[in-house]
Amino acid sequence: MTAAPVVARTRDELRTARVALTGQTAVVMTMGALHEGHATLIREARREAEHVVVTIFLNPLQFGPKEDLSKYPRTFDDDMQICRAEGVDVVFAPTPDVIYPDGDPGVRISAGPLGDVLEGQARPGHFDGMLTVVAKLMHLTGGDSFYFGQKDAQQLLLIRRMVRDIDFPARVVSVPTVREADGLALSSRNTYLTDTDREVALALSRALHEGAQRAEEGPSAIRRAAREVLVAEPLALVDYLVLVHPTTLQDVPEWYHGEALLAVAARVGTTRLIDNTPVLVGPGGGARQVFSDTASAAAAV
Ligand code: AMP
Repeated sequence: MTAAPVVARTRDELRTARVALTGQTAVVMTMGALHEGHATLIREARREAEHVVVTIFLNPLQFGPKEDLSKYPRTFDDDMQICRAEGVDVVFAPTPDVIYPDGDPGVRISAGPLGDVLEGQARPGHFDGMLTVVAKLMHLTGGDSFYFGQKDAQQLLLIRRMVRDIDFPARVVSVPTVREADGLALSSRNTYLTDTDREVALALSRALHEGAQRAEEGPSAIRRAAREVLVAEPLALVDYLVLVHPTTLQDVPEWYHGEALLAVAARVGTTRLIDNTPVLVGPGGGARQVFSDTASAAAAV
């Protein structure tokens, strides 16, 4: 039986807990309600680093006034069990006043234009709030490497850009999306879905799958195949379905060959769901787990 992780609630407690971590430290940032997707990030982190810190923080700055902050699932005891089973060293679980002692921070990280499209268009200010807390948690945890899921592709891209554009001494590692056996991407928000919603929600991963199957035929075939699946499921209220360049998030043109991001967002019942798959477009193409070299791809922007 592995030892229970040290729980740090304050900056001082985190500082004290960090002193005991003498080797390379990897960090997994979460909003709690942990599931197998988070556990996979933790496992990847543990494979490569001597110590793992998990942060559990529901960041008010990245939720809009009409979003689900107050009803977001809070399952701290279960989260701790997962962290313990996965051999996490330290869990940093602060309250908002620990992270924002002066209230809303006047200075924030700006995501720039990449933060205004797709999820950013639907959720104004979301990515500024997300990057601000990620920057703070990078500093507070003092980790060497930071693990994020491909599930939140735009978030991952923006974190890579922040690290590069303002020279954070941090290594960002991406982890493929973990799915249920039937394809549904794991998400803490899946607990909001009724049984019927869950059936409807499968249209998202199915659309991505069907689209990626047509990868050799080019962008319009991919988009058409994915769209057909979504059109056949009118209870999934689609916000966007796009095939975009992985680092500019601009629609790829019909002549495009190479890596692209096929991404979808839709409301199912009361729940907004997102999903995506990296796709290689052109000869030999198809779905991919992650982009082949995200670090250098980001550098090419
Ligand atoms: P969240 O708690 O939803 O903010 O997610 C915390 C981290 O877990 C983020 O880096 C997410 O991208 C990642 N994550 C969430 N769901 C999945 C999943 N199904 N597969 C892989 N990573 C995930």
